[in-house]
Amino acid sequence: MPKPAIFALDDDSSVLNSIERDLRSHYGQDYRIIPINEGKTALEYLKKLEGRNETVALFLVDQRMPEMSGTEFLIEAIQAYPQAKRVLLTAYADSQAAIDSINEVGLNYYLMKPWHPPEERLYPILDELLEDWKAHVRLPYEGIRIAGTLWSLTSHEAKDFLTRHQIPYQWLDIEKDSNTRKLVENVSSETKLPVIFFPDGTILVGPDLKQLAEKVGLQTRAGLPFYDLVVIGSGPAGLAAAVYAGSEGLKCLVIEKAAPGGQAGSSPKIENYLGFPTGISGDDLARRAVSQAKRFGVEILSAQEVKQVFVKDSYRIVKLSDDTEISCHAVLIATGASFHTLKMPGADALTGAGIYYGAAYTEAMNYKDQNVFVVGGANSAAQGALYLSRFACKVTVLIRGHQPTASKYLVDALNDNEKIEVLLNTDLIEVKGTNALEQIVIKNTKDDEEKTLDASALFVFIGVLPQNKIVSDLVMCSNKGYIFTGPDLMVDKKPPPGWTLERDPFLLETSVPGIFAAGDVRYGTNHRVASAVGEGAIAYALIKEYLKTL
Ligand SMILES: Cc1cc2nc3c(=O)[nH]c(=O)nc-3n(C[C@H](O)[C@H](O)[C@H](O)COP(=O)(O)OP(=O)(O)OC[C@H]3O[C@@H](n4cnc5c(N)ncnc54)[C@H](O)[C@@H]3O)c2cc1C
Repeated sequence: MPKPAIFALDDDSSVLNSIERDLRSHYGQDYRIIPINEGKTALEYLKKLEGRNETVALFLVDQRMPEMSGTEFLIEAIQAYPQAKRVLLTAYADSQAAIDSINEVGLNYYLMKPWHPPEERLYPILDELLEDWKAHVRLPYEGIRIAGTLWSLTSHEAKDFLTRHQIPYQWLDIEKDSNTRKLVENVSSETKLPVIFFPDGTILVGPDLKQLAEKVGLQTRAGLPFYDLVVIGSGPAGLAAAVYAGSEGLKCLVIEKAAPGGQAGSSPKIENYLGFPTGISGDDLARRAVSQAKRFGVEILSAQEVKQVFVKDSYRIVKLSDDTEISCHAVLIATGASFHTLKMPGADALTGAGIYYGAAYTEAMNYKDQNVFVVGGANSAAQGALYLSRFACKVTVLIRGHQPTASKYLVDALNDNEKIEVLLNTDLIEVKGTNALEQIVIKNTKDDEEKTLDASALFVFIGVLPQNKIVSDLVMCSNKGYIFTGPDLMVDKKPPPGWTLERDPFLLETSVPGIFAAGDVRYGTNHRVASAVGEGAIAYALIKEYLKTL
């Protein structure tokens, strides 16, 4: 954090020089001395300091300046720095103005020019004021600050991205705090959100995730032109394969469009993963796996989406959304699954503005003491409801079926929680709200009774879709989009059409040699963290066999 500033303002350059000299010699070690000769320039400079979240301890300001008087300057300056001490430099004739200023700007002192010797007439006064300032000041947060609204999807995505990368930040809601609103208006006249302030003074206005990733120092570009293995997706399956590949010396690159951990990363507590009897959060599991993979030399790209995979001669090519192509011997598709979205009018517009898909973690705090709803009856929904109940005053879980499909330990926990109400045989049929979610309409499927309920937020966990788009034209998939591998490709004990090798496809190999699939995107998987990790590890062993055949 830079040193707090002492602002000296005087239009007379010889006076300004001598103030600067006296301040620097006595306070230069602990404070940054900023001499400026004009009120407007000083106010512009203050805005920059504010944007960088720097503090001002003291304003030492000449009263009689042609463009703007010292009092007029202080009136504006203390809006941004109400805690800073205020001293006016006056000539004898200005003493009445200085006295008026005591009331107008809460002046702490007025000093008659000249102030020499400073040891007697300047330092004792300023020392006392600065001691007082130090004792009461609340120093600003030193890290990344994200300013936006609770209703902006892009603000939500930026928060979620940093949370998932375990990068701390402070959230500033421009609707709740006028200083934050002014801060945002100072740096941007656009309506793009969020505005992100970094400790080095950089400001990003409405950045995409790639810009944000680059700014916080995450790798977004591959270091090599060629890899033995490219893994697409950094959920449990992809990370497990990467750890084994890295540990055995393969040149391995993992490409992730969002943040490591995949669906598991959005789980507040995974309680059924071997070796963690009291549970582990998905974030923690992902963080450990990422550092393990990196320790073995694996490169992990964040905020980079793969848009296509294709075969060129004996190589497999992975094309990113910025059209970069990366060549390799083998590819593992570990792109998992994503939640179904609500198919009802208005739902898209309210996404990120009260409707969230599996993002209970990031937004839960914002719904403290409010009524929130969860849609879905499986494990992820149950976990989401339990997590939300720590903050919300009531969590209502809407389940279409006549009972939850979650594991028994989670159903028991739902039933034992006084803040959670489970509504069975209940369909969500409408969402309402102008800028943010306001109400939902539900229907009891047994008696068709409809009810409209006030809702602050709706967390949706309604089943998943395999993310197979990048290879849907290349490899064989089920009619629901799950990728067929190994024995599932065989018809009458024969490999799939177009298969040219003498051997049959390996257990987790797709219908294209050298392209493998593991985890939730694969046909026949059972949608669990342990299964994804196991498949990732097996996929690596099979890829090793494949590489031997090249
Ligand atoms: C909220 C929640 C709670 C859960 N709790 C549990 C639990 O307690 N126990 C349990 O066993 N299971 C749990 N599950 C299920 C478990 O998390 C999944 O089965 C597991 O994460 C699947 O792992 P995966 O690696 O196959 O895919 P995913 O975890 O889905 O990861 C796939 C990754 O690929 C990335 N990706 C997709 N497409 C692209 C692309 N084109 N380019 C680059 N990257 C791409 C995605 O961003 C994602 O990070 C839970 C799931 C959720 C959502």
